[in-house]
Amino acid sequence: MQQQVITDKFGRVLQDLRISVTDRCNFRCRYCMPREIFGKDFAFLPKDHLLSFEEIERLASAFLQLGVKKIRLTGGEPLLRKDIVTLVGKLAKLEGLEDIGLTTNGVLLGKMAAKLKEAGLKRVNISLDAIDDKTFMAINDSHVPTNTVIKSIQQAKEAGLIVKVNMVVKKGMNDHEVLPMAKFFKELGVTLRFIEFMDVGQTNGWDFQHVVTKKELYEMISKEHDLEPVEPAYFGEVAKRYRYKGTDTEVGFITSVSESFCSSCTRARVAADGHFYTCLFAGTGFNLKDIMRAGISDEELKNTIVSRWEKREDRYSDERTEETAKNRKKIEMSYIGG
Ligand code: SAM
Ligand code: SF4
Ligand code: SF4
Repeated sequence: MQQQVITDKFGRVLQDLRISVTDRCNFRCRYCMPREIFGKDFAFLPKDHLLSFEEIERLASAFLQLGVKKIRLTGGEPLLRKDIVTLVGKLAKLEGLEDIGLTTNGVLLGKMAAKLKEAGLKRVNISLDAIDDKTFMAINDSHVPTNTVIKSIQQAKEAGLIVKVNMVVKKGMNDHEVLPMAKFFKELGVTLRFIEFMDVGQTNGWDFQHVVTKKELYEMISKEHDLEPVEPAYFGEVAKRYRYKGTDTEVGFITSVSESFCSSCTRARVAADGHFYTCLFAGTGFNLKDIMRAGISDEELKNTIVSRWEKREDRYSDERTEETAKNRKKIEMSYIGG
C-alpha cells in the first residue's frame, strides 16, 4: 500500500492515531474523573453513539493510508469495551500498521494480557500513580490496591508485551511517591515515565502550582540514582529518556507543561463517538461518525481528514498561560482519550 504523507500548517506530518474506545472507566481518579462530577447521574455516551468495531476499522484504515504508522487504543478505560481483544485483532492486521499499543489502568489487564498479545498487541502503557496503597486508593477513589495493578504489570511482561508504567505527578497528591516508585520499577526492570499534571478538561481543578516539573523530578531522582540520557528512538517521541547507569532500565519524563513539544506533535485523536481532534486541548472536534453513517465514500472520508489536518495550527502547550489554562473550553481527558 502506498501511504500518503500529509502535513499541517507547521509542516508536522500525520503519523500517530489515538482512538478512544469508551468514555467510561472503572476508576474515578481525582485528577481525571472526580466522582462528584462523574457520579451516578453523569451522562456517558449511549451505546449507539459509540463507534462500532467496523467504523473504528474503517477509520483506522483511512488514517493508515494517510501516513499513520502507530495506533494506540485508550479511553476512559479501554479494557471495559466489550470484545476489545477482537478489535485489537482486526486492527493489528491492517496494512501499513507498524505498531499498536494500549493505555490502561491495569485493573482488567492481568487476565487479558496473553489474549491481547496473541491478537497482535505490541505494547501496553499501564498507569500507576503510587506504590503506597493508601495514596493510590485516595487517587483512584475506587478501593483498588496497588497490588492489583502490579500483578497485571507482571502478567503483561510474562505475556511478552512491551510494558511501560506511567505516573502522573501532582503536588501534594503523590509527589512523596516519586522516589519509592522510581526504586520499585528500577528493581523490577520496567520503564517508569513521570507525567507532568496537565490542564486537560474543565473538571480537574488544575493550577500551575500543582505541577511538579521535569526539572524538579529529575533533581529528586538523580540525588538517589545515577542517570544518563538516552537518545530519542524516533522523531516526535514525547518522553525525555534516561537510563539508570549500569542497567538497561529506563526512566522517562513527559514534560507537556514545562518543556512543551508541540513542534514535533504528529498525533491525531478520535474520541469514542467518532469526533476527530487535532490536539489534546482542543475545544471542538469534527464528527466523522455522522458522515460515515450518512454514507460517505472512502475517498471522501480521507479527503475530509486531509483537509482538517492541513488546516491544523494547534500548539496549545507552547502557548499555555494561566488564562488559557483556566478559561479555555477543553474536552475532558476521559472522553478525548489520554
Ligand atoms: N484509563 C486509562 C489509564 O488511566 O491509563 C487510559 C486513559 S487515561 C485518560 C490516559 C492517561 O492520561 C493516564 O496515564 C492518566 O494518568 C493520564 N491523565 C489523565 N488526566 C491527566 C492530567 N490531567 N494530566 C496528566 N495526565 C493525565
Ligand atoms: Fe480512568 Fe484513566 Fe482517567 Fe483514571 S486516568 S479516571 S483510570 S480514564
Ligand atoms: Fe500536540 Fe496539542 Fe499537545 Fe501541542 S498541546 S503537543 S499540539 S496535543
